Amino acid sequence: MEKELLNEQEIERILTRITHEILEKNKGAENICLIGIVTGGVYLAERIKNKIKETEGVDVPLGILDISFYRDDINISKKRKPIKPSNIPFSIEGKNVILVDDVLFTGRSTRAAMDALMDFGRPAQIQLAVLIDRGHRELPIMANYTGKYIPTSRDEKIKVNFKEIAGKDSVLLIKQ
Ligand code: 5GP
Ligand code: MG
Repeated sequence: MEKELLNEQEIERILTRITHEILEKNKGAENICLIGIVTGGVYLAERIKNKIKETEGVDVPLGILDISFYRDDINISKKRKPIKPSNIPFSIEGKNVILVDDVLFTGRSTRAAMDALMDFGRPAQIQLAVLIDRGHRELPIMANYTGKYIPTSRDEKIKVNFKEIAGKDSVLLIKQ
């Protein structure tokens, strides 16, 4: 069973709001960089980057992080082949790094992303932006910027569609 939780316009408004929250918290765009977590986080980070460019006229550096090899449950989950390998072609030293992901669940990916980031340098801050927080955290991790909190049950999953792949943006609740 599928239920639409967010449509294209609602996702657009959420990303506009998150962009403004990021700019407010960081007092502008001068010291920030965006890191999209493969793959959904990359599309979202690109949208936020474009919105920052529109509002502040600043080109914020955007990097890509694939954390499939850093996950602590890598041995029990099937190793995925990186589709887009990590690519952070700028220094994160002293920066306010905004990690961007589509769905926050146990928090293990975020922990792995922070671990991976530390190999690239020492940021001033790491902040987390997610489109959906579906609960069930297993680590003490929360997002600084949350699109929508959807307290799912264990048999529910979230499907995030992006226009770049699916032709239109939407967020669906999938009941198995
Ligand atoms: P966590 O590591 O917090 O358990 O899970 C978060 C990561 O797994 C994110 O990168 C996210 O893309 C993916 N993920 C976890 N649950 C869901 C879900 O219900 N739907 C989608 N689309 N991705 C999920
Ligand atoms: Mg993901």
